[in-house]
Amino acid sequence: MHRIKRKTLVLIVYCLVMFSFSVSQTMDEPIKNEMLRIIDQKSQLLIDVSDKIWEYAEIAVMEYESSKLLEEVLEKEGFRVEKDVADLPTAFVATFGSGSPVIGILAEYDALPGLSQDSMPFKKVLQEEGNGHGCGHNLFGAGSLGAALALKEVMENHSLPGTLKLYGCPAEEDVGGKLYMARAGLFDDLDACLAWHPDYETSVDVDSGQAVDDLQIEFFGKTAHAAFDPWKGNSALDAVEMMNFGVNLLREHVKPSVRIHYVITDGGKVPNIVPEYAKVWIWVRDLDRDGVKAVVEKVKKIVEGAAIATGTSHKINYMGSYHEMLINREGSKIMQKNLEKIGAITYTEDEILYAKKIQNATEVEEKGMVSTIETLKKPEKYPEGGSTDVAEVSWITPTIHLSTTCAPHGIPWHSWAVVASSKHPIGYKGMFLAAKVLATTALDLFRNPDILREMKKEFKEKLKGYTYKSGISPDQKPPIRIK
Ligand SMILES: [Zn+2]
Repeated sequence: MHRIKRKTLVLIVYCLVMFSFSVSQTMDEPIKNEMLRIIDQKSQLLIDVSDKIWEYAEIAVMEYESSKLLEEVLEKEGFRVEKDVADLPTAFVATFGSGSPVIGILAEYDALPGLSQDSMPFKKVLQEEGNGHGCGHNLFGAGSLGAALALKEVMENHSLPGTLKLYGCPAEEDVGGKLYMARAGLFDDLDACLAWHPDYETSVDVDSGQAVDDLQIEFFGKTAHAAFDPWKGNSALDAVEMMNFGVNLLREHVKPSVRIHYVITDGGKVPNIVPEYAKVWIWVRDLDRDGVKAVVEKVKKIVEGAAIATGTSHKINYMGSYHEMLINREGSKIMQKNLEKIGAITYTEDEILYAKKIQNATEVEEKGMVSTIETLKKPEKYPEGGSTDVAEVSWITPTIHLSTTCAPHGIPWHSWAVVASSKHPIGYKGMFLAAKVLATTALDLFRNPDILREMKKEFKEKLKGYTYKSGISPDQKPPIRIK
């Protein structure tokens, strides 16, 4: 009896949820409406996949369960899945169809360390020292899966030619999985690529973000008793401190667009031993690769100076260099049209209340959810800070990027508040919208060679003769982490 009641209740809630998801979401082409219907029909599957990835909360290069789950669903749905690609055990490429054009969709699924959080509108750690989806990549992975499944079904139903590739991209938050996938040439045969990301606003992205160099610097000194015979020692920590002091002075002499941030990952073990080893992890960002390179050359001199002054030796380890995003305006216009036709997300009162509670707890304005569709803007001269390894793909093939509202407006990103939003209808609704926009836009690319031609023309002009160079050396292996 109890079970029947529960089942009925679940069904009613499900129907209500489905109704609110599908309101006003019709387009002017029957085939696109068919895609929206497919995504609506698969909504429970997408929620289940998203929730499981949220629960696994696996950090970079450890996404074993998350990637396995996505691979299993894709194989069951008839995709050919190539696993363990580009030296990354948690990366995969799922392919459907054959021939030209070849369209890619990116999926991410890594979590952030130390952000364990329950799906509650206030800070509540789920597991001590656990991880959490503070960037909403569980939604990202499942949303891209939804787009791929809808595309595959209409390609079958309407005998559309072409190849669809869903890329399982691990380690976006750390390591940069796409750096390795790009170096392995996995994106080389694409005619275009689509990606999205959870946000607290909805827009087709026209800003290029920042290029970044990721460096780890080690200093090697000489140990001694810090009180008895300190004159016999050379402190590696002194070298780190001198380097950081130099870097902080450098801030005054770089362009306002530059961002430099560091953490000391090893500063010695106990105060009474002069540290013989110390390590600092530093990121240098600017608007483009040239800007980053110029600052990094100065940082290298500071490192050398710190080593000389402290009698230590040093080693600079390049962890990766990321490009800024190469925006494709032609592709963005097509995506914008689909986004506007599908329409903004609507929310229930309970959902808005949930959002406001999170805003209250994070001390930001209680605006609730903001899902208004922004017009396609001109790129900002100084875009907001941040970098992504999606940028690597954008220099290999024309890439279009979307953000959808998956969290309360204004909340701090990479925080418990995003984890709390990513296993909740406010997150699911953004995921469904992303799946629909990606699917209908990819459909346009499959069916209309003129669009692809224009996108490629713009891409070639913007490259200005540049051929993509990987930001990692040919023999650099990704760090493999075993559970
Ligand atoms: Zn992210």
